[in-house]
Amino acid sequence: MAHIVIIGAGIGGMPMAFEMKELARSEDRVTVISESSKFHFVPSNPWVAVDWRKRKDIEMEIEPTLKRKGIALIAQSAQRVHPERNQVELLDGTVVDYDYLVIATGPKLAFDEIPGMGPDGYSQSICHVSHAEKAKLNWDRFTDDPGPIVVGAVQGASCFGPAYEYAMIMDTDLRRRKIRDKVPMTYVTSEPYIGHLGLGGVGDSKGLLESAMRDRHIKWICNAKTTKIEDGQMFVTEHDDNGQPKKEHVLPFKHSMMLPAFKGVDAVFGIEGLTNPRGFITIDDHQRNPKFTNIFSVGVCGDPACGSDPHSGGDAQNGFHDRVDGHGHGAQHS
Ligand SMILES: Cc1cc2nc3c(=O)[nH]c(=O)nc-3n(C[C@H](O)[C@H](O)[C@H](O)COP(=O)(O)OP(=O)(O)OC[C@H]3O[C@@H](n4cnc5c(N)ncnc54)[C@H](O)[C@@H]3O)c2cc1C
Repeated sequence: MAHIVIIGAGIGGMPMAFEMKELARSEDRVTVISESSKFHFVPSNPWVAVDWRKRKDIEMEIEPTLKRKGIALIAQSAQRVHPERNQVELLDGTVVDYDYLVIATGPKLAFDEIPGMGPDGYSQSICHVSHAEKAKLNWDRFTDDPGPIVVGAVQGASCFGPAYEYAMIMDTDLRRRKIRDKVPMTYVTSEPYIGHLGLGGVGDSKGLLESAMRDRHIKWICNAKTTKIEDGQMFVTEHDDNGQPKKEHVLPFKHSMMLPAFKGVDAVFGIEGLTNPRGFITIDDHQRNPKFTNIFSVGVCGDPACGSDPHSGGDAQNGFHDRVDGHGHGAQHS
């Protein structure tokens, strides 16, 4: 009999639990540790921010589904993984023993790396449904009294798609409200060019996205390092192709959403042999940690750097291979 424990019940963790239960022997136990009793469909967060969806539309209780499939749920946060003891320490101090562990916690959002950034600062976030709900309150005030928008992704970010998506969604919402003409929009990104997406582009993403942005009158600043965000203004250093500072911008805004850099969650950060310096779980081509071989990782929290082919099966959002560096010029990921 083996006890298989999965930390995280998001887009990676939930399917992992279902498939693990199907593949495991009948005598094995599968347990999910989740800091929330609910599953949130993260890709729908931008719609919550502009009130096209409510929170209840994009979340569901996970216990009934897990129970039906014979999977146990511990609905509290994992505080620390102890790989040398095969234990996970929980928020309330109790420990869970495992034979195999799958880490599926997603990222920690590194708002703290830029002064004034994030939902506790002056810019909004759509990375979590709670952030999107807060952004919606800001959006309500903004649409009553519109002004400039700054949207994009900061240096170190590796997930760019949602920034473009949110820009287009805001544009559509403003047009429907017939106030688009009152809103100058600027897209600020650490990508070296529009459509890079942290991936060196996808097909003709450069041409297509530049054209879509021009059509919608969205200006852009690429190779940008966001240095500070204050109430109503963003400080951005634009860099040239050699990574040298080219121009300083102070961009006024009444609504802003900037995607942050990712790092590993506190429960695993700094565990030697388990994580890389950013806190991502180092995994091989089988998504297994080379040192603690009963630990695996799925989703954004894994770093497939130690596999024989780092481009095979790796998650482009893990903030490692596709990282745009702190000087604002993009890592060319081929
Ligand atoms: C706004 C936005 C839009 C997106 N749109 C798309 C899209 O259209 N298409 C697409 O393919 N991808 C999209 N993505 C990316 C996609 O959402 C992620 O790749 C995906 O959510 C990653 O899954 P995950 O399981 O690794 O992490 P998550 O889905 O973030 O799940 C991690 C889970 O672990 C839990 N957790 C974290 N720490 C702990 C802990 N210590 N203890 C217990 N539980 C913990 C969290 O609460 C969370 O439930 C989008 C992302 C964002 C932010």
